Amino acid sequence: MTSNYIAPGQQRYSRACMVCSIIMLQSRFKTEGCPNCPFLDLKGSTDNIEACTSGVFEGVTVIADPKVSWIAKWQRLDEYVAGVYAMKVSGSLPEELKSQLIEEGHPLYPRDANPSGSADHYEDLDDEPAYVRTTAKQPLSRAERRAAERVGNRGARKT
Ligand SMILES: [Zn+2]
Repeated sequence: MTSNYIAPGQQRYSRACMVCSIIMLQSRFKTEGCPNCPFLDLKGSTDNIEACTSGVFEGVTVIADPKVSWIAKWQRLDEYVAGVYAMKVSGSLPEELKSQLIEEGHPLYPRDANPSGSADHYEDLDDEPAYVRTTAKQPLSRAERRAAERVGNRGARKT
């Protein structure tokens, strides 16, 4: 059985699923798809990975046993596989896909505190690299918060 854990040094190549918030290497999403969300068809599809996962996430949390972890319950991850999860994932699924998933009965929980954020807002911003928070304990600095808001607003205007 392969482990779902990732080393801290690998986080820059990692993305978080916007549906279940699991964090994995982009290459792993490509070869295996999301272990919790097979319906997203991420396996083998860079397009789907770009649309359904985000390189911008905060509060990396290890969930060793989703069934007993209170964090998992709080984050509504208790049905998911053990692994590394983000407390917050920036970006949102394409509207079309979102309504399709809801129609098919997949539970969707907001993983992004800024629901107006656009999934691809970081791709066209050269001056603001994606940042990764490695602990949930440190709050965002004021500058980071401003950057996040700026990006969110820009994304909202675009859509
Ligand atoms: Zn997922």
